[in-house]
Amino acid sequence: MAGNNMRELVQSMQTRILGRTGLKVKILGVGGISPQDVVEKALEYGLNFYDVHGYKDAQGVDGRVRFKNAFGKTSLKREDVVLTGRSAALTCEELLKDLDNALDLMKMDYFDIYGLYNITQAAGRVEKAMGPGGALEGLKKAKAAGKIRFIGGVSGHHHKELIRLIKTDEFDAVMVAVNVFDQDVVSEVLPVTRALNMGTLAMKPFAKGIFISNPKAALNYVFSCDISAAIPGMMNLLELECNIRAAAGFCGLSKADMAALKKEADEISKTEGTHICRQCGYCVPVCEQNIDIKNIFYMERQANRYYSKPWAQEAYEKVENNATKCIECGNCEKECPYDLPIREMLKKTHTDLVKP
Ligand code: SF4
Ligand code: SF4
Repeated sequence: MAGNNMRELVQSMQTRILGRTGLKVKILGVGGISPQDVVEKALEYGLNFYDVHGYKDAQGVDGRVRFKNAFGKTSLKREDVVLTGRSAALTCEELLKDLDNALDLMKMDYFDIYGLYNITQAAGRVEKAMGPGGALEGLKKAKAAGKIRFIGGVSGHHHKELIRLIKTDEFDAVMVAVNVFDQDVVSEVLPVTRALNMGTLAMKPFAKGIFISNPKAALNYVFSCDISAAIPGMMNLLELECNIRAAAGFCGLSKADMAALKKEADEISKTEGTHICRQCGYCVPVCEQNIDIKNIFYMERQANRYYSKPWAQEAYEKVENNATKCIECGNCEKECPYDLPIREMLKKTHTDLVKP
């Protein structure tokens, strides 16, 4: 009964054209970290857009294998779904190898959209990927060979770099974090993707778990922006069904939605101030002390916002290289797209999380 209801809701959900690709997708897609049971149900309910990526689940199963397993349980044909994937490779050779490996894991012949992952993560990546022998060359070869239909999936958090890349006009679709917090994306990135008629896929509509008390309002905000589809990662069936209800009921951003978002934003500034880690992970590889900055800030959010302080303290206790290992070199801050004072934040987090 619930399944029928979900299928009807998905059927009634708005469909949008994914920019110049001409692909038609439901406004709610399924993000790459979603576990297999969520993907299975989403396929059964009729959602047609999936980000298929190598994120591992708690059992260590690769996202491409999870998708293959879920898809194998349906009677759907390949052309019933739109699939997007990404590679972090910077050279032509590596990208083609990555793509072949992904297709092999999925037991499929092609991606609808395939592109570059976290391309703006560090200085020099864009130049390498876009230059001679770079990953873009690999994408073009893959397209000519029929392994991908469109070039895209350029995800990135450094918005100025991302705009520079988008303006090369080499991409058919772009993947970018869109949520009520990241207003510069809405005012600076989306107008450029619109002008170039690029498909725009909104990652992180809940700002990586920052906005949680009213998912309907957070999604309505994202749907009301100039995007093709939102692709939240959904960790369980409850989240999937809740998001389907919100997406099916979308008919614009209401005053009540905006009031709910503003209330939550005010609460967030009370608990986290303006220093909010977006969990992009760009700072992690440059820390020579191997401090897992991203996860430490995740623990702090759990402690201060979601009232799970004992859990966060336990988790922090197990961190081998905690905030006390910081030698204050500042390398992480140079990489943070949100200009966060990481050193200062680490000290505060340590004080908050260390058991008395
Ligand atoms: S400032 Fe601290 S946390 Fe940041 S890179 Fe240096 S050692 Fe790592
Ligand atoms: S501190 Fe900055 S760079 Fe590091 S994960 Fe958070 S937002 Fe990303």
